[in-house]
Amino acid sequence: MISPNSAHAVAVSELRSTMQGPVITPSDDDYERRRKIWNGAIDLRPSIVAACATVSDVQGAVNTARKHGLPVSVLVGGYGWAGQSLRDGGVVIDLSAMNQVVVDPQSQTAIVEGGATAGDVVAAATEFGLTAVVGTMAKIGMAGFTLAGGYGPLTPHFGLGLDNLVAAELVLPDGSYLSVSATENADLFWALRPWVRCAVCSEGVRHHNGVGARRTCGDSCARVESERRSGCRAGAVLERRHPARKGNC
Ligand SMILES: Cc1cc2nc3c(=O)[nH]c(=O)nc-3n(C[C@H](O)[C@H](O)[C@H](O)COP(=O)(O)OP(=O)(O)OC[C@H]3O[C@@H](n4cnc5c(N)ncnc54)[C@H](O)[C@@H]3O)c2cc1C
Repeated sequence: MISPNSAHAVAVSELRSTMQGPVITPSDDDYERRRKIWNGAIDLRPSIVAACATVSDVQGAVNTARKHGLPVSVLVGGYGWAGQSLRDGGVVIDLSAMNQVVVDPQSQTAIVEGGATAGDVVAAATEFGLTAVVGTMAKIGMAGFTLAGGYGPLTPHFGLGLDNLVAAELVLPDGSYLSVSATENADLFWALRPWVRCAVCSEGVRHHNGVGARRTCGDSCARVESERRSGCRAGAVLERRHPARKGNC
């Protein structure tokens, strides 16, 4: 029978030979920085940090962990209070290098890679005079924020972060890659709200006019469009109109 230590060693060597991003272990200099999260009281020591650069890196990390019976977690901003992003002896899928944000000002949506932070999203949107529902800290992961609910200063006007999620691309525990939206694999799309065990590689979020300003929603918040993009990017906007309010909303 293969011992846990040799399982780790085989897993590390498999990942290093297949992944584009770096694979970090406790003997690497970068290890302590990689496992540091916001809540300093959490002291969990994963055995492998798979710093993914591509979707196929994520799939490889999931498959390798499953094959060797290693626990998996997903880490982005590290702002989860309870340290759910780390598992003792496990494989951490670190998505923080997958942080691209592409804004489509026409549809007022953004395609946000799974490792982008709220700050990345706001910075990209600001260039177009748009913003998104985000929380109080720029370094919080946008996917983690959204999937955990996501409340912020704009919530009274535009709802929770998850209300603004229009589509997502996922890697499931069996390593498969799936697009979800209200019209595609809809059951899984709605299940994202109370969390599912998968890695969100990208998400489409709705943007709004007015950066930090109180502006009327009008029709800017209502748009019907759906689009799919290739690779790890998808954006789909559902028809949804925010409740009409008198005056500024
Ligand atoms: C100081 C502080 C301020 C906060 N302020 C707010 C606030 O204003 N509004 C608010 O709504 N929340 C707030 N939060 C809570 C925060 O939004 C959530 O804890 C969020 O889940 C953190 O995401 P993260 O990526 O930064 O953290 P992580 O610890 O990296 O991740 C948190 C959880 O999300 C999972 N996860 C993250 N990204 C992905 C992904 N791409 N695919 C799959 N799973 C993923 C991780 O596995 C983990 O279970 C705050 C938290 C802290 C500590």
